[in-house]
Amino acid sequence: MDKDVEAFMEEIITRNPGENEFHQAVQEVAESLMPFINKNPKYKKAKILERIAEPERVVMFRVPWTDDAGEIQMNRGYRIQMNSTIGPYKGGLRFHPSVNLSILKFLAFEQVLKNSLTTLPIGGGKGGSDFNPKGKSDNEVMRFCQSFMSELFRHIGPDTDVPAGDIGVGGREIGYLFGQYRKICNKFAGILTGKALNWGGSLIRPEATGYGCVYFAEEMLKTRKEAIKGKICTVSGSGNVAQYTTEKLIQLGAKVITLSDSSGMIFDPDGIDEKKLAYVMELKNIKRGRIKEYSEKYGVNYEADKRPWHIECDMAFPSATQNEISKDEAKMLVNNGCICVAEGANMPTEPAGIQVFLDAKILYGPGKAANAGGVATSALEMSQNSMRLQWCREEVDEKLQWIMKNIHNSCVKYGKEGNNINYVNGANLAGFVKVADAMLDQGVI
Ligand code: NDP
Repeated sequence: MDKDVEAFMEEIITRNPGENEFHQAVQEVAESLMPFINKNPKYKKAKILERIAEPERVVMFRVPWTDDAGEIQMNRGYRIQMNSTIGPYKGGLRFHPSVNLSILKFLAFEQVLKNSLTTLPIGGGKGGSDFNPKGKSDNEVMRFCQSFMSELFRHIGPDTDVPAGDIGVGGREIGYLFGQYRKICNKFAGILTGKALNWGGSLIRPEATGYGCVYFAEEMLKTRKEAIKGKICTVSGSGNVAQYTTEKLIQLGAKVITLSDSSGMIFDPDGIDEKKLAYVMELKNIKRGRIKEYSEKYGVNYEADKRPWHIECDMAFPSATQNEISKDEAKMLVNNGCICVAEGANMPTEPAGIQVFLDAKILYGPGKAANAGGVATSALEMSQNSMRLQWCREEVDEKLQWIMKNIHNSCVKYGKEGNNINYVNGANLAGFVKVADAMLDQGVI
């Protein structure tokens, strides 16, 4: 490791003990940025990297609620307000039993650079709870969301902090959270994105992360005169991002052969078509079932506790969670001929796996660039809320495609290395410069 990075990381680890995911995210960025910062002493002198890795504010709170049996349950809620230099804090809420400070700080840190990359005026934040929505009734989820918002409301606002969804927080949860905010504050305000269409939501927001990821992959392929049509694709996860990644890939003529959830994966060599995808959406979004049921319905292979990376493919779309591609799995992908990895999830590839992709010089689009379409469309939802109007589907989709192209161009501008594009360095540098310059402009605060 570079000496300056080592010294910097020592401080980060001392200040944030035990927060392994946060260390991992910061180190990846520090490795990209350190040579640039050393060449540009204004950033070094103003300690921008040190300041950017320290949240502006962290809120932690108790979330008590009553289950259907009348028992009182207790969870912990969080909101990490990481950086608001270029706009209100923006970033999702995650409800998952694994949620802790480290995971949310890594996500909030990534979010700052990602949001900067979108070219839109949004700062970075993230939040959530260790609440597990799985197996809970709608009423239990509603009571939890109401309790969560009963504290969160005082920390958010259309010009302060505008959360959205993430793992475990979809349309249902956003609805309950919004309802409680409206009741407590007596205000109909754009304080959340991912809202339903009939009360302030934006067309294409549910689709945006997955669609955007495929648009980004398309741009990467163009640099090698390749196209999506006819490509065999593996997708992990079966939630929001996985579903709409699959939908767009099918529309563009690719063949998607895998999906997964936290219990295992299905392999459908004939490809998941629109009808099968509709079944998955109903299974996951309404019945809240397991992906195993797909294998029973369509008579395909199911592997318990497995991820899809051993399956041969041209392109891979990790769309479930962090650290879901190990070094060995990255090697397997490369050895099996995969030419492009576009990350729908945040930090799904372990650092050693990223190195495998970079060494092999395959097209590797890191999450903070490839999945930025979700937050970008959230920012478009904020704009529509401010103007109190709604754009049509085509208009939002056009803007999303334009944004993904721009993000790709920024990665090329900052990440070009000879004939190759290092999208990791490109995304980190492009995201950093805008926030860093704004921090210089605004002084030491
Ligand atoms: P969902 O909750 O809709 O879906 C998550 C999917 O990943 C589910 O299939 C879930 O399986 C699986 N999963 C979750 N945790 C694990 C785990 N520990 N191991 C294996 N599988 C797991 O979430 P999203 O689709 O919204 O989010 C997926 C990823 O995309 C996350 O990394 C998120 O941060 C990122 N992302 C999401 C954006 C959005 O707009 N929603 C925007 C940008 C990034 P199961 O059903 O068993 O829980």
